[in-house]
Amino acid sequence: MTTRDRCTSCNATLAEEGSTWFPCPVCAHEISRCYRCREQSIGYTCPKCGFQGP
Ligand SMILES: [Zn+2]
Ligand SMILES: [Zn+2]
Repeated sequence: MTTRDRCTSCNATLAEEGSTWFPCPVCAHEISRCYRCREQSIGYTCPKCGFQGP
């Protein structure tokens, strides 16, 4: 099971270009965001530690 398949914010499948990944600033768990969420600055919640970021 890979965590790179879906957007952490909206759970959309990450198949399109423009998706981004970065480590959680708290626990380094990989956060995935789709292009739409990145463009709209949708917040995310780390599924591992619960950290909420912009
Ligand atoms: Zn998204
Ligand atoms: Zn985290």
